[in-house]
Amino acid sequence: MDSGNQKTLNVTRPYPLLLGTDHKICKKIEWACGVMDAFGPAILADAVIDGLLKGYQGAIKNTLAEMSVAGVAGQCADCAVNDNGSCCGKGIENRFDPSLLLVNLLMGCKLPMSRLDPHGCLFLGGNGCLIAARHLICINYICKRLKEKIDPKALRHLEKKIGDEADAGFALEEALKRWLRMYAL
Ligand code: SF4
Repeated sequence: MDSGNQKTLNVTRPYPLLLGTDHKICKKIEWACGVMDAFGPAILADAVIDGLLKGYQGAIKNTLAEMSVAGVAGQCADCAVNDNGSCCGKGIENRFDPSLLLVNLLMGCKLPMSRLDPHGCLFLGGNGCLIAARHLICINYICKRLKEKIDPKALRHLEKKIGDEADAGFALEEALKRWLRMYAL
């Protein structure tokens, strides 16, 4: 950690660390936005967090690329358009930990406060997911259709990328919580 950050933080500390998923989503978003406003630049200036953030973004990119190569992205799009399918149901947003919401803000994503689709996840936009750092449940779910349509070898490759993404996200969230405990909250 870059201890130089400590000197730059001369703000009140109104956001005690919010942990776990047992809070209303609006409260979690409010917490993440408050922390981002108060500490975002200092967090992003930390060399360790910056490295982990870049690593996580790279891992997310790799997963998306593998999904495309394996044909998963095409199957999901076809399912959504022609099969009335949507994996992004209402309530999945409640699974998010506040720190993962903060990670999305650090990546430049906006968190919506209202739902576009009354039956969909809060983070579901007109063209798919609006956020970059998704919950493990979002990236890990291989439905019956995918199991049937996608080459098993390609699915194994994809699972490896998903594992890398999950590990990178976990490492970043833990570092973020340590940073917040140490310097901010
Ligand atoms: S992929 Fe995005 S929109 Fe879909 S459930 Fe996950 S967070 Fe919500």
